[in-house]
Amino acid sequence: MVNTDNIRQRILSLKSEKNALILAHYYQPLEVQDMADHVCDSFEMAKRARDAEQQIIVICGVVFMGESAKILNPGKKILIPVMEAGCPMADMVTPEDVINLRKKHPDAAVVCYVNSSAAVKAVSDICCTSSSVLRIVRSLPEKKIIFIPDRNLGAYVARQVPEKEIILFDGFCPTHNRVTESDALRAKEAHPDSVFAAHPECRQEVLAHADFIGSTSEIINYAHNSEKKTIIIGTEQGIVERLRRELPDKNIYSVAASFVCPNMKKTNLPELLNCLENEQTEIKLTDEEIAAAKQSLDRMVSI
Ligand code: SF4
Repeated sequence: MVNTDNIRQRILSLKSEKNALILAHYYQPLEVQDMADHVCDSFEMAKRARDAEQQIIVICGVVFMGESAKILNPGKKILIPVMEAGCPMADMVTPEDVINLRKKHPDAAVVCYVNSSAAVKAVSDICCTSSSVLRIVRSLPEKKIIFIPDRNLGAYVARQVPEKEIILFDGFCPTHNRVTESDALRAKEAHPDSVFAAHPECRQEVLAHADFIGSTSEIINYAHNSEKKTIIIGTEQGIVERLRRELPDKNIYSVAASFVCPNMKKTNLPELLNCLENEQTEIKLTDEEIAAAKQSLDRMVSI
């Protein structure tokens, strides 16, 4: 039988021996979050990776997060425990899609959700995360915005920033998009004296029932500060588990039992140990790929 305490000990001693920085996304399993120096949303993760002084940075998340870290801090060794941990939404848009949209709308700026490949970032004007998207879209001089790849987040932006014309792409997060209006209504009926906090990657008809809409870190802050004792969470299970532990006096429920990102759950303690022990798998991008994608990410973190 695998001894989890031994694995934890090995991870911690290798981390300090190799002077590695471990960054984990909030959607990672709790046991992985517990090993991290910082648990963050993708915006904070990008900034922490950019500013890291350690030679080895381990990204516990999905591949585009590792790529962003490499682009922002190319001199470092960026490791990801599971290279197969991709993001289906990121794979829904190609650079050709963006180039074609640009031809159709030459006066538009391309705002690219960080959940995208380095090649797509390279043909975009600026990246955004769910915590920075409204600020970024409002800051742009262009009136017309091509928003890729998440149609749900893009539609949310269109409602919040009506002064801009938002051209949507047909991508979506399969995990957030799976949740239906019936799920939201059922959860609210089951917990009548509750508030519902949802992520803008959810469908519009789900968000219509939310008391609060925000990024993962904004949802966490909202749950901490809410006077309500019962909170329904409309984002990935990792946040629910974290909040249950952080707020033992509150009742934290997921809006739907199926709210689990299978790719985020591919990382576990043995994979993290293997990653540190063998320094694999390394995110590799060519100098050209890094230079091409850097401008859109740099613009995002500077706003
Ligand atoms: S939750 Fe959705 S957007 Fe995030 S990594 Fe999973 S599939 Fe991609």
